[in-house]
Amino acid sequence: MDYYSTRGEAPVRGFRDVLLAGLAEDGGLYLPAIWPKITPDEIEGFAGRPYHEVVADLVGRFAGGEIADEALRAMCREAYAGFNHPAVTPLVELAPNRWVLELFRGPTLAFKDLAMQLLARLMDHVLAERDGRATIVAATSGDTGSAAIEAFRGRERIDVFVLFPSGRVSPVQQRQMTTVLDPNIHTLAVEGSFDDCQSLVKALFARERFRKDVSLAAVNSINWGRIVAQTAYYFSSAAAIGGADRPVDYAVPTGNFGDAFAGYVARCMGLPIAHLVIATNSNDILARAFADGRYEVRGIVPTSSPSMDIGISSNFERLLFEVHNGDAPAVRRMMAGLAQSGSFSIGAGPLEEMRRLFAAGRADEAETVRTIRETYEATGYLVDTHTAVGLAVASRYARPEVPMITLSTAHPAKFPDAVEAASGVRPGLPPALADLMDREERFTTIAPDADAVEDFIRAHARAVTIEV
Ligand SMILES: *Cc1c(COP(=O)(O)O)cnc(C)c1O
Repeated sequence: MDYYSTRGEAPVRGFRDVLLAGLAEDGGLYLPAIWPKITPDEIEGFAGRPYHEVVADLVGRFAGGEIADEALRAMCREAYAGFNHPAVTPLVELAPNRWVLELFRGPTLAFKDLAMQLLARLMDHVLAERDGRATIVAATSGDTGSAAIEAFRGRERIDVFVLFPSGRVSPVQQRQMTTVLDPNIHTLAVEGSFDDCQSLVKALFARERFRKDVSLAAVNSINWGRIVAQTAYYFSSAAAIGGADRPVDYAVPTGNFGDAFAGYVARCMGLPIAHLVIATNSNDILARAFADGRYEVRGIVPTSSPSMDIGISSNFERLLFEVHNGDAPAVRRMMAGLAQSGSFSIGAGPLEEMRRLFAAGRADEAETVRTIRETYEATGYLVDTHTAVGLAVASRYARPEVPMITLSTAHPAKFPDAVEAASGVRPGLPPALADLMDREERFTTIAPDADAVEDFIRAHARAVTIEV
């Protein structure tokens, strides 16, 4: 399968190269040449199949023969073996036709495990084939870092450096990162904000010499491997309650638009998704773009759903490419406008197409709190703040006769203070993490300075090419 950059100025690549590269060399994001199609019979066949088999089937269609079937199946089996529910992503019915899809059954209690656990194995596999090594540097506001650390810990060929804003992640999130003591894991507490962490990572990727010397790789939400892995729970959940003929609606708590774009991909492949509802918190750049056709960056306000506190939604570029019918120069112009003035306008035709494909809405802090409380009072089911944003926006679009599945992206115990304040109930950590707050921590505090971070990585990464 060939992959093209949304900006049209990078070489066409295959699946394995796209996995390792993350971002295209022209700054764009990779998309496949075609959407593999799935027949209604194949969708019916997913019902009742083990989750890892569904993933292997779907990823295989995008890998285009570049990963041997047997190896792919084994990696998928391993990736989900550590989840704490036999269905991996169980469905819970809160009311007739109102479902929650639990995506937090993995080791770090957020949906990012579903993609990261597989991505780590795929990258390791490709590096082993090439006898290569890689260095992963990632900025995190909490969930990505812990998912990456948990997925890559102990891997021979890959070192991981995670930058988190010191004092600005929840205590549970911090300890999920800092208590992993494997020698290939390095956690850096940056004396600054999440934006500072992200700027540092960008600056490091722009240092060409450094990038080559340590074989820098990206596992943030623009990595195509993550999106593909995430299509699987749309297929398995729709097959379970809808089947191939009965349309279902989805509501997706959204930040960088990776999860929502995976739903779009599933629909392009033939899954009968009727409405795809994008839910943002008060950081609502996407909801505003759908409302008035202007994509405009504003300051970030901290909310109780911090994993969605983003100023720019990086995967949105993929949707822009799609609704402009693959017009890469148009995407380049919009991205240049964004870089220059922090905004751009979407033309009438593409905007109409966006609205045909998605609905979008936002839920503010009061609505998030109310949704946690009302859901608990009505059903006894405790949701986290991100899921609450999804449920709040879902309720505006729900139709009595159509199943609405809201993606539950985190376990409530990941954000215990906010959940307790809203519901009066303090959610407990699952048994595997019960002693998390007592474990030994290890991390390095570092100034928000790219030279300091580069020096640290050069000193600790095993992929460093020795200069002669
Ligand atoms: C990352 C994250 C999101 C947002 O997902 P995107 O793919 O970036 O839209 C939502 N909820 C939780 C808990 C997350 O960790």
